[in-house]
Amino acid sequence: MLKLNKFCLFLFVGIISITFSCTNKTTKEENTDTIESNSETSEQKYNWTDCQNCGMPTNDFPHWQVMLKANSENLAFCAPRCMMIHLADSSNNAANSIEKMDVTDYYTTQKIDGKAAFYVTGSDKTSPMGKDFVPFSTKEEATSFMQEHNGKKIYSFEEITQEVIVLELK
Ligand SMILES: [Zn+2]
Repeated sequence: MLKLNKFCLFLFVGIISITFSCTNKTTKEENTDTIESNSETSEQKYNWTDCQNCGMPTNDFPHWQVMLKANSENLAFCAPRCMMIHLADSSNNAANSIEKMDVTDYYTTQKIDGKAAFYVTGSDKTSPMGKDFVPFSTKEEATSFMQEHNGKKIYSFEEITQEVIVLELK
């Protein structure tokens, strides 16, 4: 059943990308601002892959999945935690070349801009990787989640330094 679903999705993505490449070549490079306005169709553009950090199939975690474009490479992550660990690894230079970051709003499961998101730590909700940074599009959402789920702190993306990652994920 799962295999069939994946195959159908693969076929569908294939058809969409063929259609796009035939009709609309010039807009390929200009689609970075479609994240918020077009989140339903933007999901179909992703090439679903396994998590860059831990290898798990990211498609299995719709509440947590992250899609990152850095160094002109599309990278998938099963959860924010795996992306933060990847970005903290200076050997890949990804942190200095982020082009697009789609994280999943935990409440709506829509993709949102990860650089503008609010991340709650220390809550009772764990991702497939354990302790995690739970993303929300607004501070109000983050605050109410923190109260409901015993969270400890809200971070902006810029505030999540290597020290914070070590502190919050250990
Ligand atoms: Zn992972």
